[in-house]
Amino acid sequence: MKSETCFSKKNGEPLSQYYTQLDAEEAATFIKENYQSSLIAYECNKCEYWHLTPKSRHTPSIECHSCFDGSGHRKQAYLTEKGALQRAQILNLQSSLHLRVYECMFGNGWHLTKT
Ligand SMILES: [Zn+2]
Ligand SMILES: [Zn+2]
Repeated sequence: MKSETCFSKKNGEPLSQYYTQLDAEEAATFIKENYQSSLIAYECNKCEYWHLTPKSRHTPSIECHSCFDGSGHRKQAYLTEKGALQRAQILNLQSSLHLRVYECMFGNGWHLTKT
């Protein structure tokens, strides 16, 4: 089933949506077997269904069109809270930063911020 609200950042095509994590994971398994591409299922903050995203992007993120960081760059928005937390953990280990995860007030995902 194609989403009416969510579109691919790459080609503008509507994303496939799944009602449950199980449905999405079954689709990901089918795609892996038939097309050799690894996808992971994530719960969409926007439509509350499940979509698939390439696995190579370990912590899938997009550019938020509404939020900017201190230097005027668009903030990265993570699609899932878990992805944002994973990213924060990596960055916190690599540096002395203490990053915190918060939900984008425009509903574009999850952001990281310095405490
Ligand atoms: Zn969606
Ligand atoms: Zn935002």
